[in-house]
Amino acid sequence: MDLNVRKILEKINISGEVKTSEPMSAHTTFKTGGNADIYVRPASEEDLLIILEACRRYSVPFFILGGGANILVSDRGIEGCVIDMGELNSVSFKGTVCLAESGSRISDAAEKAAERNLSGLDFIYAMPGSTGGAVWMNARCYGTSISDILLRVRYIDENLQIRYLEGDDIHSSFGYKKSFFQGTGNIILSAEFLLKEGSRIDIQNNMRNHELDRKKKGHFLFPSAGSVFKNNRDFGRPTGVILDSLGLKGKAVGDAQVADFHGNIIVNKGKASSKDVKDLINVCYTEAKMKLGIELECEIQFIGRW
Ligand SMILES: Cc1cc2nc3c(=O)[nH]c(=O)nc-3n(C[C@H](O)[C@H](O)[C@H](O)COP(=O)(O)OP(=O)(O)OC[C@H]3O[C@@H](n4cnc5c(N)ncnc54)[C@H](O)[C@@H]3O)c2cc1C
Repeated sequence: MDLNVRKILEKINISGEVKTSEPMSAHTTFKTGGNADIYVRPASEEDLLIILEACRRYSVPFFILGGGANILVSDRGIEGCVIDMGELNSVSFKGTVCLAESGSRISDAAEKAAERNLSGLDFIYAMPGSTGGAVWMNARCYGTSISDILLRVRYIDENLQIRYLEGDDIHSSFGYKKSFFQGTGNIILSAEFLLKEGSRIDIQNNMRNHELDRKKKGHFLFPSAGSVFKNNRDFGRPTGVILDSLGLKGKAVGDAQVADFHGNIIVNKGKASSKDVKDLINVCYTEAKMKLGIELECEIQFIGRW
């Protein structure tokens, strides 16, 4: 282990969990990935700041982990510190505004909103992952993006200052699966969503229908990270249809396979490595480029020592 990594271990005196050489396969929906040098699960924002200050002082890189539902972690693991936000998971309400800490499951926020007869988050119910991850990715499903209901984001900037993103800045900071947070070292602490009063039965039916639809589409049959590539309107058809037209459904590298039920989902059929998944992603990318001249953009994030 790197000397600085060892040094920060001494400095991280927090109430949350601290582990070394933690297998990331336990924290990703692909169920693949090597070890994180250090894995921490801050129990409070104070814990989080202690960790960030220690990483900064000793120049140790860190990675913020949400639900691990949109990442492919290298089999060679992650250098430095993985900060799992899962313990910062409160969800509360003020009138029709839902305030969710970044480590809460976005489905949990939707469920709690429905219990209060509030609609707006039902579209995203049953999508795996955290509130922070949904904001970072600007997650989108059933024609709605998380930014459509976003009122305010509280975050820590690269100088460890607390900041807010709100008002008109919200609208200019998000696009299709794009957010202001991508490509920055900013850490999302919480998000506020503007919801609407509605009928609890209707909201819960809507949520159940979305969950059923995902089940019917095979989303939960095998470990995966959902869609591999983004959709792009310029290509005229969904990426899944494009990859299917190339005969890629069922194509496998090791235990990684293009799902036989969806061309844009790669599943882990058992013992796939992250390298198997990445090699298969490369096959899909290359086939689309060579045979159709289409350059697909990967939605899954490659994390760690690639
Ligand atoms: C079965 C299945 C179905 C899916 N369906 C959809 C779908 O319909 N639509 C869709 O958009 N996606 C879908 N996904 C992908 C995934 O659920 C979303 O991208 C989700 O928003 C990822 O959230 P996460 O918390 O798991 O993020 P992670 O995978 O943990 O992280 C993703 C990125 O966000 C960053 N991040 C996470 N939290 C924070 C934070 N607090 N501060 C700063 N950065 C942070 C991470 O550092 C990383 O770069 C699906 C995935 C699966 C497995």
